[in-house]
Amino acid sequence: MPTSQRGLHRELLELIRRSEGATRAALARDTGRSRSVVAHTVAELIAEGLVVDGAVAAQRATRGRPPMQLRIVARSGYLGGVDIAHDGVAVAVASVSGLLLCRRQQPFDADADGPGALALARRLLLQSFAQLGAPPTPLALGLALPFPVHPASAMVQVPPALASWQNLDPTALLSRSFGCTVRYANDANLGAAAEHRAEASRPTAPQASLLYVRVGAGIGTGFVIGERVYAGANGLGGEIGHSAVVGGSIPCRCGRIGCLEAEVSPTALARRIGLATVDDLPAAAAGRGGVALREAGHAIGRVVAEFSNFLDPARVVIGGSLGTLGGPILEGVREAFAEHGHTEAVRRMPVSVSRLDGGAELVGAVELAAQHLYAAAA
Ligand SMILES: [Zn+2]
Repeated sequence: MPTSQRGLHRELLELIRRSEGATRAALARDTGRSRSVVAHTVAELIAEGLVVDGAVAAQRATRGRPPMQLRIVARSGYLGGVDIAHDGVAVAVASVSGLLLCRRQQPFDADADGPGALALARRLLLQSFAQLGAPPTPLALGLALPFPVHPASAMVQVPPALASWQNLDPTALLSRSFGCTVRYANDANLGAAAEHRAEASRPTAPQASLLYVRVGAGIGTGFVIGERVYAGANGLGGEIGHSAVVGGSIPCRCGRIGCLEAEVSPTALARRIGLATVDDLPAAAAGRGGVALREAGHAIGRVVAEFSNFLDPARVVIGGSLGTLGGPILEGVREAFAEHGHTEAVRRMPVSVSRLDGGAELVGAVELAAQHLYAAAA
């Protein structure tokens, strides 16, 4: 069957994979398709060995055949995730269901050396597989990149100043080394998708829109609107890191002066607070660095609040190496929302710190690999 006609197969497989226990009736409801179309497509997935009928679902009515809960046929193997940040590389090896089994990270100047960052990711993945006692043969790899990715051409849009990333195929080394497909996407967009999924899997009603902000050596946002990540026509949606800060004076990697992500980068903040290294920032957050971090949170929050005035998201989640410190940064962001929200909804916006273990971007990268795996199967 042509790939174009497999859309519902993929959609159903994805829903079954995420819910592990969906009934045909629930799938019909969630996809808006008729029960007969869903039943027919599920029958094809079962015939292909991708899905099986599992436990009998609880039901109120006693008449008729009891509904069966569908589940994915377990596949053996591993998935890999890689998160390249401007200042470090993190990797994870995960089960096919997306559970992170092993994580490693290391500081690295990825801006200065793109091929080196990918080589480090390869080394860290090999070490992770060795630690698990597993063969280094992932079924698929997902890669989070700190640059916009064009949704149609998949072109990575790198600032001209970062010479080592120009014309670099981010998948070549990893796919050659591990012999599997490597998919990539913008880091904040993957973070937003991961946060949204985490919320949707909770028993409370899922909120269909959220704004995720990665705050670290780079600042980017990803937004989920109507259950989907919106990346913009050119993949440039949410690129708030290069918003100008009034009175800013620090050169940015993009070539301009005084961009938000240059002014409140971990390096700039450590220097402002008088710390020897960015590694001291977490400890300083509770002490003498509190004011500077609060101001940084406020500067970020101001831009994100303006965004929220426009987008009206249900909630905002802050992640990244600085964002997950919470504390004064989170307070600064909340203050900015209270000051710059045009409406009560924005002034009182629920702003929380990402609680995804391993980082939203890394979880999102693993999920990207999982999506590829199951899309390929369907
Ligand atoms: Zn910039």
